[in-house]
Amino acid sequence: MLGAPSPHAAKRILVVEDNELNLKLLNDVLEAHGYRVLTTGEGAVAIAWARQYRPDLILMDLQLPDISGLEVTRQLKANAETASIPIVAVTAFAMAGDEKKALEHGCDAYVAKPIDLRKFLDLIAGFVGVPANTGGGNETVRR
Ligand code: MN
Repeated sequence: MLGAPSPHAAKRILVVEDNELNLKLLNDVLEAHGYRVLTTGEGAVAIAWARQYRPDLILMDLQLPDISGLEVTRQLKANAETASIPIVAVTAFAMAGDEKKALEHGCDAYVAKPIDLRKFLDLIAGFVGVPANTGGGNETVRR
C-alpha cells in the first residue's frame, strides 16, 4: 500500500498504451518530470486499476487490443468511483472527427501522435499540477 497522500505527493498518472515503445517513452518522460506512473496495455486492466488506484489522470490510447479506449473511457465515466478522473485521449488516428468522438465518449482532452512533448506536459500540468519535486535537473515545467 502507498502512504497517505500529502500536499507534496507526486501526482499519479495511469498510462494506457499497448505499443511498448510509446509506453516506455511516455513512462520515461512523465517519471523524469516527477510524476508517478502506472502503465498497462489492456483496457480491462485500465478499468480495474483506475478503480483500485484512483490516479489523478489517465492517458488513454484509443486503439487497444481488447476493449477500445473509447469504451474504457465510457465505462470509467459511467462509474461514480472513477467519473471524476480526467482522461486524455492519445491516438495515432489524427483524423477529422476523432477528437469529437473522444470528447463525446467522455474524454476531457485529446492529443494526436506524434506527441509534441512540451504541449503535452503543459496539458498534463493543467489537469494535475506541476510536481513539487522533479527529482533533479531544471526541466521542471512551469506555467
Ligand atoms: Mn494502441
